[in-house]
Amino acid sequence: MGGLPRAGAAYRRASGDADGYGGLLTIDLGAIARNWRRLSARVAPARASAVVKADAYGLGAHEVAPTLYRAGCRAFFVAHVEEGIKLRAVLPRDAEIIILHGAPARSEPDCDAYQLTPVLNCMEQLTAWIRFTSANGLKRRCVVQFDTGMTRFGFDLSEASSVAAALGMAGSRPSLVMSHLACADDPSAASNAVQRERLLDLRKLFPDTELSLAASSGIFLGPDYHLDLVRPGAALYGVNPAGTDPNPMESTIRLWGRIMQVREVPAGTEVGYGLAGRTKAATRLATVAVGYADGFFRSASGRASAWLGSKRLPLVGRVSMDSIVVDLAALPGPPLVPGDLLDLLGDAYGVDDLAADAGTIGYEILTGLSSRYWREYVE
Ligand SMILES: *Cc1c(COP(=O)(O)O)cnc(C)c1O
Repeated sequence: MGGLPRAGAAYRRASGDADGYGGLLTIDLGAIARNWRRLSARVAPARASAVVKADAYGLGAHEVAPTLYRAGCRAFFVAHVEEGIKLRAVLPRDAEIIILHGAPARSEPDCDAYQLTPVLNCMEQLTAWIRFTSANGLKRRCVVQFDTGMTRFGFDLSEASSVAAALGMAGSRPSLVMSHLACADDPSAASNAVQRERLLDLRKLFPDTELSLAASSGIFLGPDYHLDLVRPGAALYGVNPAGTDPNPMESTIRLWGRIMQVREVPAGTEVGYGLAGRTKAATRLATVAVGYADGFFRSASGRASAWLGSKRLPLVGRVSMDSIVVDLAALPGPPLVPGDLLDLLGDAYGVDDLAADAGTIGYEILTGLSSRYWREYVE
C-alpha cells in the first residue's frame, strides 16, 4: 500500500488493499526487535528468550518470531504443542521452542518430530516423557517447572527430590528449571522474594542447571530476578512492564479506524444503544467502523477516545459490535469526511491507555486485536 497514514494526519484515502477495511493495524517489527535488544542488554549476562504464545500476543508469531531470531533470540516459548509446530515452520533448527504447558498425552511424537522442548509440570507429564524418550532411545532436552507459590503450573516443591530421582534414573536432567512469579507487577509484594528463594533452593537438587523466573515485569524487579534466562512477552510488544511513566518499552502497534459517516447534531442528541450517550453541545459526530468485535472493548464505553494526533475525540455512547461514535468538536480545520481515518491506538493513546479505560490489562487488548483488521508489518 502506498503511504500509510502518519499519526495525526487525517488520512483521506487508504489506497489499494486497505480500502475495504474498517480498521487498519500496523505492527512495527523494528520496534519489537529494539524492545528485545533493550531487554537483552538490561539482563546481560543473563539471556533473554521471547514468549510468542497466543500468536505473539495477537501480533503474528510468523512475523514476530523470525524478526526476533534475526535480532539474536534463540529460545522461544509458546503455550501449546500445536503452536510450537506452527512456529517450527518459520524458525531454524537452532532456535529452541519450549512448550510451557508441556506435552499432553500422545503429543510426544510431535515434540520429537518438530524438535519441541516440553516443560514438565507434573508427574504424569514427566513419566510419559521419560517413557517416550527411553522407548525411542532419544536424548532430548526438557525443562522442569516448579510451583513456588502461584498455584498454577509446575511440580510442588515437596516433589522435587522425586523429580530429580526419576530424571536421574532415566539418565536425564533438565536443561532449565523454571518458575513463574504471581505478583511481579507489584515490587512491594512479599511473595516475589519468597518465590525467588524457593527457586534458588532447588539448586541443591539440580546443581549446574540453569534457572529462570522472570517474565516482563520480573525483569524490572532487578538483577536478583534475572538468574540465567528471562522470559519476556508483553514488554516486547510495548506493554509497560514497570508501571513507570514513561514506559521503558517502545510501542509496537498503531491502529486506525475508518470514518463511515459524519453528521451535524444539536445539543442534547442521544446516541447509540440504550441512548446511553448524549451530546452536551451542538457538534459533529463521526461513526467509525471499529467495535467490540474488533477488540475495542465494550467496557471502554463512555471512557475511551479516538484521536487525531494530539487532539482527543471522546467516544459518545456505547461501543457497538462493529462501530463507535466519536465527537469531532475538538477538531478545527476542514471537516473530516467518510473514508478518513482516526487514530485509535498510537502515540497519544496506547494499548495500556485503552486497557485502563476498558478496565483490563494491555495483554488483553493485544490478544483481542481483531483478525478483521487490515494488517501491515513495517520494519
Ligand atoms: C506468558 C508467560 C510469560 C510471559 O509473560 P509476560 O508477562 O507477557 O512477559 C513468561 N512465563 C510464563 C510461564 C508465561 O506463562
